[in-house]
Amino acid sequence: MYRHGFVEKDIDPSDVHEKVKEFLVNDGFNITSDEHHDQMWEIHAKKSGRERIVLGKVRDVDVVIAGSKGKFEVQLHAGIWGRDMAVPAVEGLLTLGLATAVEVHEGHEYELNLWKRIVHLIDPSLLVCDLDGLLFKSRDDLEKHIKMAHQQNNTGMMMAPMMMAGMGLMTMGMFGGFGGFGPGFGGFWI
Ligand SMILES: [Zn+2]
Repeated sequence: MYRHGFVEKDIDPSDVHEKVKEFLVNDGFNITSDEHHDQMWEIHAKKSGRERIVLGKVRDVDVVIAGSKGKFEVQLHAGIWGRDMAVPAVEGLLTLGLATAVEVHEGHEYELNLWKRIVHLIDPSLLVCDLDGLLFKSRDDLEKHIKMAHQQNNTGMMMAPMMMAGMGLMTMGMFGGFGGFGPGFGGFWI
């Protein structure tokens, strides 16, 4: 699941909503529900055609957009067979299994790629961390984040002060108002 808040962007959240629906339809999904209440849009889309259970494939996608122009957040979640949903026991397949990392790779890649398309629709200048989908304004910030969050073993003694800085940002994200809890290092709003 990916989630981020966007401030002072040129695009209206209702336009983001329309574009995301286009992306999903073009990618072979059926929009199975599309609700709009006040400042909240919720899309649920399911892979069209006969449903087949294939480990690691995306079955459905949920997108929630909340807020108004100038300050809104987007949440994306893809249901992937074997990652987010157990595989039921059907003919010839007796294991209620969880897919391996290799098997879920394709579904995960799709989710990340869709997230990048949505982010770049909102602001083409933003950079996305491939490992957790967090957003950054500059290559520098992204590299700092990767060092801090994904290469902990390599940084050794340098970690403590950087960790403190990260915690400060996280706290700002958490108390940044609308949206509440952020995804961590880097802050929730960008
Ligand atoms: Zn990351």
